[in-house]
Amino acid sequence: MTIVVPDEFKHLYVFDDEHPVVKIPAEVLRQKAAPIERIGKSHLALAENMQRVMRRARGVGLAAPQVGVLERLVVVAPEGRPIVMINPEIVSAEGSVVGEEGCLSIPGLYGDVERFESIEVKALDKRGRETLYELEGMAARVVQHEIDHLDGVLFIDKVDVATLHWFDPYAEDED
Ligand code: ZN
Repeated sequence: MTIVVPDEFKHLYVFDDEHPVVKIPAEVLRQKAAPIERIGKSHLALAENMQRVMRRARGVGLAAPQVGVLERLVVVAPEGRPIVMINPEIVSAEGSVVGEEGCLSIPGLYGDVERFESIEVKALDKRGRETLYELEGMAARVVQHEIDHLDGVLFIDKVDVATLHWFDPYAEDED
């Protein structure tokens, strides 16, 4: 699906030092990210930077390709405290639930996406320890969305097209 950004939303699609989240149609968002073989200082710095970027953009999740890095690292903060997941993998999934999603790489566009209701995710933490996360609700949704990013998949690929709509989440700030 080709997204045509309405004129009044084009200001959200700026990419520069102040707005470091990559936006569509950047090719990097459509590529598959590589597994991280050995966690190094650069990955810790990347995770720190991504948390800062996510917080500033008021997002609840961010995947490395969204800052131009094709490695399998995501940060998620569905309930405040951010979690860094390296090489995350869904190992089991149950149920299905429809809910609204947006994406910092497609700012202003929202729509309903069907996701697994609960998932188990295996990932390495920042120190390389394998961790199993049992997630449901918002957390499960965010992590599925972010793992999709690592495979070059965007929510617009899975969205119920009839529910797509534009809304400026920052509009209130601008007055
Ligand atoms: Zn996204």
